[in-house]
Amino acid sequence: MADLPRVVILGGGAGGSELAARLGTRSDMTVTLVDRQASHLWKPRLHEFAAGTIDSTLSELSYYMVARMRGFEFEQGNVETIDTARKSVHLTGPTAPDGRGAAPRDISYDHLVVALGGVTPDFGTRGVVEHAVRLDERTDADRFRARFIALMITARESGRPAHVVIVGSGATGTELAAHLREVEGGFFRSGGRGPRDMLRILIAEAAPELMPGAGDDLRRNVAARLEALDIDTLTGAQIAEVTPDEVVAKDGTRHPADITVWAAGLVGNPALAKLADFQTDKKGRIVVDQRLCTFLDPAIQVMGDAAAFTPEGADAPLPPTAQCASQQADYLATAIPKLLGGEQPEPFVYSDRGRLLSLARAGSVGQIGFGRKNDFLVKGRFALAAYQSLQRRHQWTLLGPLRGGVAIFADWLSPAKGAQLKLHG
Ligand SMILES: Cc1cc2nc3c(=O)[nH]c(=O)nc-3n(C[C@H](O)[C@H](O)[C@H](O)COP(=O)(O)OP(=O)(O)OC[C@H]3O[C@@H](n4cnc5c(N)ncnc54)[C@H](O)[C@@H]3O)c2cc1C
Repeated sequence: MADLPRVVILGGGAGGSELAARLGTRSDMTVTLVDRQASHLWKPRLHEFAAGTIDSTLSELSYYMVARMRGFEFEQGNVETIDTARKSVHLTGPTAPDGRGAAPRDISYDHLVVALGGVTPDFGTRGVVEHAVRLDERTDADRFRARFIALMITARESGRPAHVVIVGSGATGTELAAHLREVEGGFFRSGGRGPRDMLRILIAEAAPELMPGAGDDLRRNVAARLEALDIDTLTGAQIAEVTPDEVVAKDGTRHPADITVWAAGLVGNPALAKLADFQTDKKGRIVVDQRLCTFLDPAIQVMGDAAAFTPEGADAPLPPTAQCASQQADYLATAIPKLLGGEQPEPFVYSDRGRLLSLARAGSVGQIGFGRKNDFLVKGRFALAAYQSLQRRHQWTLLGPLRGGVAIFADWLSPAKGAQLKLHG
């Protein structure tokens, strides 16, 4: 055991956890997964935890238990720095609520994978840090949910409508808006004013059209579904400031906002900048080559939202999606054993399987295809099934066929109705 090469994976999110589960079954290496959290939550459903259409306690997986089941080691701690000369990673924490923390320590590696994800940037906009919610991790979803519940009860009792403004019309913004419509009825007893009068939702988008980057068909379809849900949309609206109860556009227009959700874009996790002297792009992601290796050290690879990987011939890095992180986990599960054996693996090839959205009771819709030009619009049950498949696959990879099957069945039986599981977006 002592002579086996040691693979360390930093970050157990959508990509890192799948890679750990895949490599953990191998007998020719030891695998250690590091994450600052004790349990794993599937990030593409974060807006559903925030809205309350699903309960995170039913959907969290303890890293300690998955590690035992899938044959890897789990080390809970905050990743601070990498010493590339000594091949070690410096960790601190975790810290208990009473302030007592675990001793700082170093863990050594032969091969390292950085999978620390990304965060929503504030673009220096005034008031975002203080007054807006950004859905980057579980605690953000919990914070939003607590505020939303208090807001809806206050609206019911006072008769004054609640205003939620979502800045950014990507998948996170549009899906969150739809899921808020799904739960609003739960706050009102029958009779009196209808819930839609009492919850006003506005999606503000800086670009001239909704869902920048999506195809025209999908954009039009989503816009119609949002309209059917009485969700207001505003395009070309650059938000210059967020206050405790308003958002202020660049042109001075003010919109009431009891809660502002900032869902505009994604950049690399700020922790990446402190790790080592990696080459980063303007979004703070670590630049990697066609085999996902860093230019600083080929024994360090980067995947998922933390990586800036530009396929050959493309003019921009791949988008930050779980779809991409998952494909990179598959790739690394075969590339790492080859690299450890002194072989050169084939380059990583990304296959864009499209984007799908689940708009709760307004149904599922998406673009599926093998290249942007050939994408076609899918709706209804087929879209929902495709939407569900990535998380199903993720559960299967992490838990194995038996437990994965049971988890999927439990999800299916869960009281959360509407479209629950998703493919990619
Ligand atoms: C609301 C929402 C909806 C989305 N919907 C979709 C969708 O429909 N389809 C899709 O394909 N993608 C979707 N995404 C994007 C998708 O979630 C991400 O692209 C994906 O999770 C990236 O995977 P990752 O492994 O790179 O990072 P993450 O899944 O973000 O994992 C990063 C991990 O690193 C850990 N970590 C971070 N910093 C440290 C540190 N310093 N020390 C130790 N551990 C640390 C975190 O705890 C986390 O476990 C959505 C994202 C959001 C927020």
